[in-house]
Parts: sequence; C-alpha cells; structure tokens
Amino acid sequence: MSEIKIVEAPPGIEGHGFYATSLDKVIGLARSHSLWPLPFATSCCGIEFMATMGSHYDFGRFGAERLSFSPRQADVIMVMGTIAKKMAPVLKQVYLQMAEPRWVMAVGACASSGGIFDTYSVLQGIDEIIPVDVYVPGCPPRPEAILDGFTKIQELVKNESGRRRNSPQYKELLAS
Ligand code: SF4
Repeated sequence: MSEIKIVEAPPGIEGHGFYATSLDKVIGLARSHSLWPLPFATSCCGIEFMATMGSHYDFGRFGAERLSFSPRQADVIMVMGTIAKKMAPVLKQVYLQMAEPRWVMAVGACASSGGIFDTYSVLQGIDEIIPVDVYVPGCPPRPEAILDGFTKIQELVKNESGRRRNSPQYKELLAS
C-alpha cells in the first residue's frame, strides 16, 4: 500500500491536509450546477414554473437559468402539465433526442399520474413512456416544491454523471 503523504499548506493557510477525489465526481459536481433544463409545459403547472423562473424564487441560483428549447442541448426535461395520449409520442421523441446523460422531472400531479384527468385520452403518468427520476407532487406544485425537486435532480447528477449511455433501458425505448 502506498504511503500517505501530508502536504504542507501554502503560505497564508493554516494546518495540514489533502483532498482527493475522482474526475467523475468533479464532472458530476460541475454538471449539477450548470444544468440546462427543457421545460415541456402543456398546461397550468407551467405557470408555476414561470413564477419559479422569476426574480423572487430565482432559479438562476442553481445555475439553471439558461433554458434550452432544443432537446439536443438539454440535460433535464421538466414535464409540466396534462399529457394527452396524442401528445405522448411527441414527448417520447423529444426525450430520445436529448443526449446522454439526461434526467427527467415529472412536475405536478398530471405529469406524475394523470392527476384529476382519469380519462381515456390522458396519459396516466409520463412514466408509462419515459423513465422518470424525480416526481414533484402538487396540483399545482408551489415554486418551492419545484425547486426542491430540482435540487434532488442535482443530487442525482452529482453521482451519476456517466450513466445510462447505451443502457438496456435506452435500447428498449428506441426499439419500442
Ligand atoms: Fe393543472 Fe393541476 Fe394538472 Fe398541474 S397538476 S397541470 S395545476 S390540473
């Protein structure tokens, strides 16, 4: 086993110590604070997202104020609102166009489970067609809840920077 070497602190800094990490963790930390979200808003939950983007709640604090309306340049898709079954193939296509690694937030009851629209024409949760990482409850969820969900996405991003590329789940989705 190699010997651990105590490194002298540079002038002006007290004490001794060292810090070791892996490149993967550094990439995850950097990525988690520079996510580009794609807002896929179809109805009222999208209005709460607009409030979340405003100066009072300040989404920019999390490094995510740069929204991406191109799936090719987005890291996390935030699905907000009722997803009709006719819209489902579009949502799936947008998801598949995102580059790996990518994350998914179901914001509000409709995106998570169909909400109050328990009917033949509405998807009963987007997890019927794409994998979901974080569900945000509420009808609609308050901006605080959306921010809470986003910080949970950041935790995943920190620890899963290189995941899923060419995963069996991704291949299954492409084939279906
Ligand atoms: Fe509207 Fe409620 Fe559905 Fe959000 S969860 S889209 S607020 S009905």
